[in-house]
Amino acid sequence: TVGCVALDKNGNIAAGTSTGGMTNKKWNRIGDVPIIGAGTYANNATCAVSGTGWGEFFMRGVVAYDISAMMEYKKMSLEEAAKKVIQGKLTELRGEGGIIAIDNKGNIAMEFNSAGMYRAAMNKKGELTIGIYKENENSPEENE
Ligand code: ASP
Repeated sequence: TVGCVALDKNGNIAAGTSTGGMTNKKWNRIGDVPIIGAGTYANNATCAVSGTGWGEFFMRGVVAYDISAMMEYKKMSLEEAAKKVIQGKLTELRGEGGIIAIDNKGNIAMEFNSAGMYRAAMNKKGELTIGIYKENENSPEENE
């Protein structure tokens, strides 16, 4: 998967996700990525989310929308909502994967329960502020 989330200077947020699907997937399988709310979701009132991992579980948990809903209805921060959905709901469903997300204030979350997830963040100048991590690093250090 290649996913991205972005916030522009007008406060609009967006999410995009691209994938080849799962290895050995069944013919005609539709994964979570094109299903808005499962692997991809954005709402200016809350956050933008792009997910990667075992798509059937992202669909079952409506993972991307659920993070937004936790913010909207439970008034959680992006970080709390992402943690609750990935470490709670997705893990309880026995799904594996992670998300990158940004909220309408520019806070970012990169939560995963898989062994690793390549991830990075850029500021508005296009500079890398969080490095690319491949392994088991749950708390990426800031580069600045
Ligand atoms: N989520 C994708 C799928 O289930 C797999 C991936 O992470 O690329 O199709």
